[in-house]
Amino acid sequence: MSLFAAVEMAPRDPILGLNEQFNADPNPAKVNLGVGVYTDENGKLPLLACVKAAEAQLNEAARARGYLPIDGIAAYDKAVQGLVFGESSPLLAAGRVATVQALGGTGGLKVGADFLKKLNPGAKVLISDPSWENHRALFTNAGFTVETYPYYDADKKGVNFDAMLACLNAAAAGTVVVLHACCHNPTGYDITAAQWEQVIAAVKSRNLVAFLDMAYQGFGDGIAEDGAVIGQFVAAGIDFFVSTSFSKSFSLYGERVGALSVVCASKEETTRVLSQLKIVIRTNYSNPPTHGAQVVATVLTTPALRAQWEEELAGMRNRIKAMRTALVERLKQAGVTSDVSFITTQRGMFSYSGLSKPQMERLRSEFGVYGVDSGRICVAALNEKNIGYVTESIAKVM
Ligand code: PLP
Repeated sequence: MSLFAAVEMAPRDPILGLNEQFNADPNPAKVNLGVGVYTDENGKLPLLACVKAAEAQLNEAARARGYLPIDGIAAYDKAVQGLVFGESSPLLAAGRVATVQALGGTGGLKVGADFLKKLNPGAKVLISDPSWENHRALFTNAGFTVETYPYYDADKKGVNFDAMLACLNAAAAGTVVVLHACCHNPTGYDITAAQWEQVIAAVKSRNLVAFLDMAYQGFGDGIAEDGAVIGQFVAAGIDFFVSTSFSKSFSLYGERVGALSVVCASKEETTRVLSQLKIVIRTNYSNPPTHGAQVVATVLTTPALRAQWEEELAGMRNRIKAMRTALVERLKQAGVTSDVSFITTQRGMFSYSGLSKPQMERLRSEFGVYGVDSGRICVAALNEKNIGYVTESIAKVM
């Protein structure tokens, strides 16, 4: 018998599987609204001008690639902290944040998950219902029992906040609660600042561990606006986790640029926590890669490039917003009579369209319009060229 005779076939990743199906579809009118990637008005993945400029600068002073420190490029970690917590945060001045470079936002989540598992092996993890599908898999793989807290309310087309809060208020001490800092994936619905205050009060009173996943900072209402929730947690005096991803905000998906930051009670505690995060990294992949983090650090610390990045990010954000408005208008023009205005209250790359699984299947098979079975579509993949076809196709299946 062969060594791998008993190995079972693993299920395909639902979203990446959709991509394969899309690539194989001969329909010339096909549109991919499945994967969470921003494409520009020409349907192309953008190479940001600030990234190109930073790369040119780095090429000029090309250097040999030694190993990076286990926790990554120091200037990068510092730039991440400035972005996430605010340059003048007293927390940073007090040395109370341990930040490590990570392999994208996923890597930040995984390093945090492995550290948490050692810290509190019996803890449960709560993720939103629904959530980015890798949250469940990632925390389960790290050894946790993963359950959900209520989030999406299909009837209300929004967040079932009362149920969410009630669940958090009933959670056992030490429970890890994964929260989307902004631009909730997949629904597009975020909670308000006042609701965040109530979540924070629950986290504090129940002694929960908040793990904020910030994969879309700058895609909602602005860099500072989207990061405001971090300030609320800091003001409440809670220790918490934040994972950062630059995949979308720098259009650097394949470079795997992210970070994990852990807010601690003191500088001394931060040193100990950092030492443990480094063990997790060292025993998984030793140390992170150089290029992407160097690019991001260069952009964030060079004033002209940073200004350029903020402008380009605003461009992506505003284009998505314009597509949301256009989607609502075009659906009406295509004869949809039900209220679809919720699309413009959603934030970030995605829209929970409210379409059913059979409707999503029809969109794929009859029209070559690919979204996720849950009804999630990537608004950031719409453009003036494909939106007419997409809205007419949606109108036909509705
Ligand atoms: N968290 C959420 C909510 C996401 O939507 C994503 C990417 O789609 C990630 C984390 C992972 O980001 P990265 O590609 O940087 O690993």
